[in-house]
Amino acid sequence: MSVYRRYNYRAYPTQGQRDALSRLYGACRYAYNWALDQRELMRRRHGRMQSYTQLSGMFTQWKNTPGMDWLLAVSSTPLQQSIRHADVAYRNFFRLYKAGRTHIVINHLTGKKRRTGLPRFKSRRDGEQSAEFTKSARFKVGHADGCKWGFLTLPKIGRVKLRWTRDLPSTPNTVNIMRHADGSYEASFTVQVDGETDTPKPLHEACGIDMGLDSLMSIVYTDGTREKIPHPRTLKRHARRLRKLDKQLAREKKGSANHAKTRILRAKAYSRIQNQRKDMAYKLASKVAGENQAVALETLNVKGLARTHMAKSLLDANWTRIIDRIRQLGVQYGRTVKRIDRWYPSSQICSICGRRDGRKPLDVRVWKCPKCGALLDRDWNAAVNILNAAGLAESLNARGGDVRRGLAQAGRNADARETGTRRTVSLH
Ligand SMILES: [Zn+2]
Repeated sequence: MSVYRRYNYRAYPTQGQRDALSRLYGACRYAYNWALDQRELMRRRHGRMQSYTQLSGMFTQWKNTPGMDWLLAVSSTPLQQSIRHADVAYRNFFRLYKAGRTHIVINHLTGKKRRTGLPRFKSRRDGEQSAEFTKSARFKVGHADGCKWGFLTLPKIGRVKLRWTRDLPSTPNTVNIMRHADGSYEASFTVQVDGETDTPKPLHEACGIDMGLDSLMSIVYTDGTREKIPHPRTLKRHARRLRKLDKQLAREKKGSANHAKTRILRAKAYSRIQNQRKDMAYKLASKVAGENQAVALETLNVKGLARTHMAKSLLDANWTRIIDRIRQLGVQYGRTVKRIDRWYPSSQICSICGRRDGRKPLDVRVWKCPKCGALLDRDWNAAVNILNAAGLAESLNARGGDVRRGLAQAGRNADARETGTRRTVSLH
């Protein structure tokens, strides 16, 4: 099975290349917005849409009309790609629209109406700018063995320096050159690789995972071990600096040079948080998917929780990204990933005798089952229940009821470290 992988490198364009890129981004943005416009016109007039080929042909004609020569001054492939992206975005919207799954929302501040799901126009003020080159643009990547730097040659841009952090497994199909909000550049390649070569061997048959805000994850394994992964609290660690930059920004005059400088500093601080979150999510997901043949997870109501006072902590927890990544890797590695219904009362049932106790407030971390008397840890108990509900707990049953008791019990030294299995989790 061959799959596409992304390989990203930090890019360091020269000032001249930055100017050229900025012109290219402008043209790509224009092409994207133009395509969305054409699509919307066609829908309003005829209730249908043009094919990508038609749209692309129309754009070529449009480029050659007087006054549009600035579009001819940049490489044409990224413009075609932008039209392709707009085409995909619009098709996705149209599918939802026809299924009756979009509706009108009104912004209470401005009174403006907007249909949900409609692709947004790109703006010069968006933090992220990007342009994509395909093979047909004949971009080239060069790297000398052992050298810290690589080079990406792009048409009408030139040779852009890349920080070479790892080798590309084969010739890339596309490259996306991005400019982030903090002013840094990145080149992202898609490469076709053989998917089976790097599948890790699972260490456990199955695991059940309870996700929470106290511990990010509480994991119990069918071999009788368990572990908790602490909440990263990335935002909290950066909160002071962010607050300071926000205050500074409020003091400075809009449009002044200092204001612009502070804005970049703040964008940099945020992008550092973003990177740490992403890094954490990817590491955790590859650990979970790599170590287990089967994984049982809850389906979380992230949107519902995000409206509560826990929103910030929730963003930091990054659940959606972690779960998506686990599923992605699960497919890639051939693992079973089971999701438990969101309404399953995993924290109300005693995992040992099955008695259903009522709801408990979030601050109740440990409770005693009134029927069997087991002292249960909220998170461990929920994780065992999730494993159970997914039908993955058979090997626990075979080992006897005591395994389950041990796994769900509070205060018992069943943590992986103590039972001798080595764990290397270092998530910030
Ligand atoms: Zn019980």
